[in-house]
Amino acid sequence: MIRIRRYGPVTQIRMARAMAGRPLYWTCAYHVDGLLIDTGCRHTAGELVAALDGSGLTQLVNTHHHEDHVGGNAAIGARFGVRAQIHPLGIERLRQPDAHLPFYRRVVWGRPVPYDPELLGDRIATDRYAFRVLHAPGHSTDQVVLFEEREGWLFSADLYLGERVKYLRRDERLDDSLESLRRVAALPVERLFCGLGAVLDDGGGALRGKLAYWEEVCQRVAELHAAGRSAVGIRRAMLGAEGFMRWVSAGDFAKQYLVDQALSIVAGGSPHGPPGRPGRRDA
Ligand SMILES: [Zn+2]
Repeated sequence: MIRIRRYGPVTQIRMARAMAGRPLYWTCAYHVDGLLIDTGCRHTAGELVAALDGSGLTQLVNTHHHEDHVGGNAAIGARFGVRAQIHPLGIERLRQPDAHLPFYRRVVWGRPVPYDPELLGDRIATDRYAFRVLHAPGHSTDQVVLFEEREGWLFSADLYLGERVKYLRRDERLDDSLESLRRVAALPVERLFCGLGAVLDDGGGALRGKLAYWEEVCQRVAELHAAGRSAVGIRRAMLGAEGFMRWVSAGDFAKQYLVDQALSIVAGGSPHGPPGRPGRRDA
């Protein structure tokens, strides 16, 4: 299923695999002036190609390698003759997609087919716009965001996602995310186009709000840690029970990862995995 909305010259294409007529999970692509940013998941590739018919598509950028952002690459390439560009750290991830995608991710998004992308530089120009490509790791090692300075547009990939995000992916790096948020929030961002579909007019304020919330989480984790609370005790006190998200994602998303990563920052240790809780790395 597909939903299209226009924001001036920017077209938002939201896509979801439907089961029993209901969307499982919305993903998002944006088209502006011949440039397509992300391609959704494999299950919706045919619908995306049909939606872009006659759009004059000439360039394709993947903001990162996750399967809900690159699944339509091959179908778009076959129809429009464009090859996706991705950050250098994403090249091999697209050439050799994860062979062991958890069951829920195969059902909801599908496993991307091996794909040979092009290297993404630090600028993308269309006829009417000029985008700076900014490396913004944390959510994934290869994530980039696109900033059009004259318009104040930020295509934020999965850097934002919401102001009070309580879950992290198992392989997410909180220290990198905080650093990316600080750098990107310092830009004169006006309209933010989120990878999940939100379009916000005070994009800079939204980024600063998320940064402030996660800094507050780190501060509170430090206080509870100093008071002798365990990692699990801190999570329960601050964020409550894990709930549905951890269960449905088979442990890919959890509140505990946010607390554990905050603890590793507080301890000044390796953010690759706090003591006693090594996380599976993405890269
Ligand atoms: Zn992602």
